[in-house]
Amino acid sequence: MYTAVYARVSTGMQAIEGTSLDGQVELCMKKAREHNVALSAIKVYKEEGFSGEDMDRPAMNRLRQDIGAGLISQVVITHPDRLSRDLTDKLFICRELESRNVELLFVDTEYKNTPEGQLFFNLISVIAQYELSLIKKRTIRGRLKAVEKDKRIMPMRVPPYGYDYAESRLVINETEAQFVRLIYQWYVCDHMTMREIGNQLTEMGAEPKRAETKSWSASSIQKILRSEIYIGRYYYNRRSTRKLKGERTKNGAPKKTYTIRDEKEWILVEVPAIIDERLFRLAQEQRGKNTKNAGHVKHEYLLKSLLRCGHCGRRWEATTYSGRLNKLTGTRESYTCYRCPNRNPKRFGHHIERCSGRSIRAEVLDDYVWSLVMKVISDPQAYAERLTCSKESLMNELLLESESIGRLLQAKDKEAGKIKLMFRKAFIDAEEMEQEFRSLQAEKNALQEREQACLERLSQLRNESVSVIEDTTIERIIRELRTEEKRHIIQSLVHEFLISREGAEIRVTAIGFLDELITGLREERETGAES
Ligand SMILES: [Zn+2]
Repeated sequence: MYTAVYARVSTGMQAIEGTSLDGQVELCMKKAREHNVALSAIKVYKEEGFSGEDMDRPAMNRLRQDIGAGLISQVVITHPDRLSRDLTDKLFICRELESRNVELLFVDTEYKNTPEGQLFFNLISVIAQYELSLIKKRTIRGRLKAVEKDKRIMPMRVPPYGYDYAESRLVINETEAQFVRLIYQWYVCDHMTMREIGNQLTEMGAEPKRAETKSWSASSIQKILRSEIYIGRYYYNRRSTRKLKGERTKNGAPKKTYTIRDEKEWILVEVPAIIDERLFRLAQEQRGKNTKNAGHVKHEYLLKSLLRCGHCGRRWEATTYSGRLNKLTGTRESYTCYRCPNRNPKRFGHHIERCSGRSIRAEVLDDYVWSLVMKVISDPQAYAERLTCSKESLMNELLLESESIGRLLQAKDKEAGKIKLMFRKAFIDAEEMEQEFRSLQAEKNALQEREQACLERLSQLRNESVSVIEDTTIERIIRELRTEEKRHIIQSLVHEFLISREGAEIRVTAIGFLDELITGLREERETGAES
């Protein structure tokens, strides 16, 4: 393998460009030697009298031929401009080098840190990403054709529970299949809940398929109860995946969203069935009934998402329970609780750690917190001072937000330039370019709207003076406020509440403007919220 040194001057330009051909070569050789390249391993490509506009140059052609033959491991040049004057040609060569794992070294190492250099390398990676997505599309299309033609199952990381993958087929894994049958029977015949099924599976030593999760979750059981694979129907091309930009899962992988494609695009591959159709249908009916019973009544919780567990740090949930049947009146009295989600985690198994934090009746905590807040608000002078303070910080936030929107808008303008470049290099056709521009415009419009709203709110705040609340207003607040408005007031004063319990006493610690509100609440009522 050789290290190539490439130097170029155009006729009569030496004086202007400042560096002679031999001067360039010398600089490059020095660079190569700094990288411990032996003299005998250096091949020099000199280009004299050819302009940087034209790609058809003898030394350049030789270099590209040698790269194509796999003779070159790195290329040293003084500056990217030596490759070509034209930006897109420069990008093209760099991509060619990259795709053949040829390293590119510049004598001017600072180049990477200049704005021009950064744009250049950003563009290279944008193009690389675009090429990668094209290749991906092609391979997916190829795979789908194979599925359609030969009814073959493509290799997969983890086969569905109940099956093993062998020679392009899914075959039944008898041990797991037994559990699949049990899950359906328990659900349909014994009306067991997900929790009961999960516990039963753990008891019997069944483990889910993925090695990283040794415990069953409600969603993994529900998935088994829903999947048509168990009646022998395996679908390809059913879901389309989209990465969520900038969002990542706990493991650091990009977050994805799924949408279900039109049924016409699905490709059916038949596999051996584990469950008969009748039982499967009954399970779906059961699921329909269960979700209907659960109802979709929207409950309003005063402190929702404002409570954090003082024991395990998780954000608390609010739940409304239907309550036990009162045998005298024949009605159920529903009640609402706040609780730590870790109290009854939706994962089942022995090693799952539960939180010791007990749930609290919502109305007890609501009343208590609201009474604390009222105490603060009814000291008008102190409240006004706090509001002035929070107004200033709000204005600061708005200012920062509008600035960051401004930067995003600038970035969108740069994106337009990249789209044009891709069109110019024929990576996309006119229609695709149009489409890209349309969605770019939509994003810009949304940003501009946000910016407008930001600025309006800012000028509103500037003209608004903080007025001391009159006593009559306070009375009205107590009488007439809706939950949403109360929440708004609480949120303007408190970032969140930490809830912990010591014996019969519940500690409520406010974090935010009102952080002096550290007080205990003695719980009088039985919570009764354990399921
Ligand atoms: Zn907890």
